[in-house]
Amino acid sequence: MAILVMKFGGASVGSTTALTQVLSIVLQEHEHWDHLLLVVSALDGVTDALIEAAQLAQLSNRRGYRRIVATLRTRHLALVEQLPLGTNERQALQADIDRLLFDMLGVCQDLANRPAREPKSAAFDEIIGVGERLSARIVATLLRQNHLRGVAIDATDVLVTDADYGHAHPNLELTRVRMNQHLMPMLSRDIIPVVTGFIGATETGRPTTLGRGGSDYTASILAVCADAKEVWMWTDVDGIMTTDPQEIPDAQNIDELSYEEVAELAYFGARILHARMIGPLREHQINLRVKNIFKPRDPGTLVHAMPPDQSRTIKAVTIIQGLSLTAEYNGPLVKITALIDQALHTTTGNHTEVMISAQSSLRTFLCFIIPTTIGPEALRATQNNLDRCLQEVGLHTTWSVEPVSVITVVGADLARLSGDTARILDALGDLNVLALSEGPSGHNLSIVVTIGDGEIALGKIHSAILNND
Ligand code: ASP
Ligand code: MG
Repeated sequence: MAILVMKFGGASVGSTTALTQVLSIVLQEHEHWDHLLLVVSALDGVTDALIEAAQLAQLSNRRGYRRIVATLRTRHLALVEQLPLGTNERQALQADIDRLLFDMLGVCQDLANRPAREPKSAAFDEIIGVGERLSARIVATLLRQNHLRGVAIDATDVLVTDADYGHAHPNLELTRVRMNQHLMPMLSRDIIPVVTGFIGATETGRPTTLGRGGSDYTASILAVCADAKEVWMWTDVDGIMTTDPQEIPDAQNIDELSYEEVAELAYFGARILHARMIGPLREHQINLRVKNIFKPRDPGTLVHAMPPDQSRTIKAVTIIQGLSLTAEYNGPLVKITALIDQALHTTTGNHTEVMISAQSSLRTFLCFIIPTTIGPEALRATQNNLDRCLQEVGLHTTWSVEPVSVITVVGADLARLSGDTARILDALGDLNVLALSEGPSGHNLSIVVTIGDGEIALGKIHSAILNND
């Protein structure tokens, strides 16, 4: 029984043109596989708007969140208006959209009336997860209109997580049990479940979300629990590329990558995949393909278990923003890392990870990333906040906090390919390297430069990678 899980990202459900592609892809693959299981993201931009609405509700800004919900309603209804649907189906779908948004307004209302304002809560996750519930209904209706048995499923009924709101962790055992109860029987009745990405619920039914870009993670968890053969991620780019084409236009598509390489790419900032989705697929050896909805015949990128010899080249390079802390200090690092985490949490609401640390007899260098979506304003705020925290606790030493760029080269067995490392460093010419770190997996080499040198370093390293082919 071969099951294919297909995940459609925000850009592939955000317009009638894209949805027409989705439909023809599903019709096509329905012929080739025993069962299909679909996972959908919210229409592009919708989650951003919902997060803003939830934040405004927390600030009791009623006009603010009502305005956002009205705009979202108009956008979804306009899309449904343009789709080739029968009158009854269209009306039922429009009523569904209205009901979901009306209920969500109620949650905003409660949040606005609540005196204690927790930054992360079930109410917040309930609000920001409504985008996926809307898109799943749109896609399922479109399938039904075309003689496929599409049924929208809210992942809150199947994907069980812990209560780490905004960043929840799925519980595979419980999810498998729920899937066996609800989803697998549907597959045997030739139903195509259209499951909401990004969202889940605790065992007791409190709504959660899996972190930004979390629909990828949903696809991977459902694939593992359904024993699927492959996972296909549909996007509007050709696959995983040698670098972000928005930064470097001559970026090229990569035919194949190992799980390890793609995990490092996602971790070090390639925005195409959710970093936590790779582990479960790797463990269960489920192949992953990244494909362009507008070029369904193209192979895209295949991620699978690769024998080391085949993959011994540098594959890609990423860039990510971070802050570095240099201090005249050589005591235990725990105190400083806890401070950094605290400062970042107050400014961004996220926890951070120290990516590189180095200590010598007198000095300590730490480099940590901050979420790429944070923007320059928040970066500066974080920098100031960290400076203030350090002043308050008194490190009894001098320090400096600076924004930096972390450029990461990903490939297999980089630790052994010393020639390649030399070539990469050579490509940087006289750019000032602040720190260098070979990842413990041996699949990545990270280079820290000043924020001003970031783009230049990325360009130089990317040319060196292409010229080697
Ligand atoms: N809609 C969610 C987000 O924008 C999840 C996803 O698209 O994967 O983060
Ligand atoms: Mg994504």
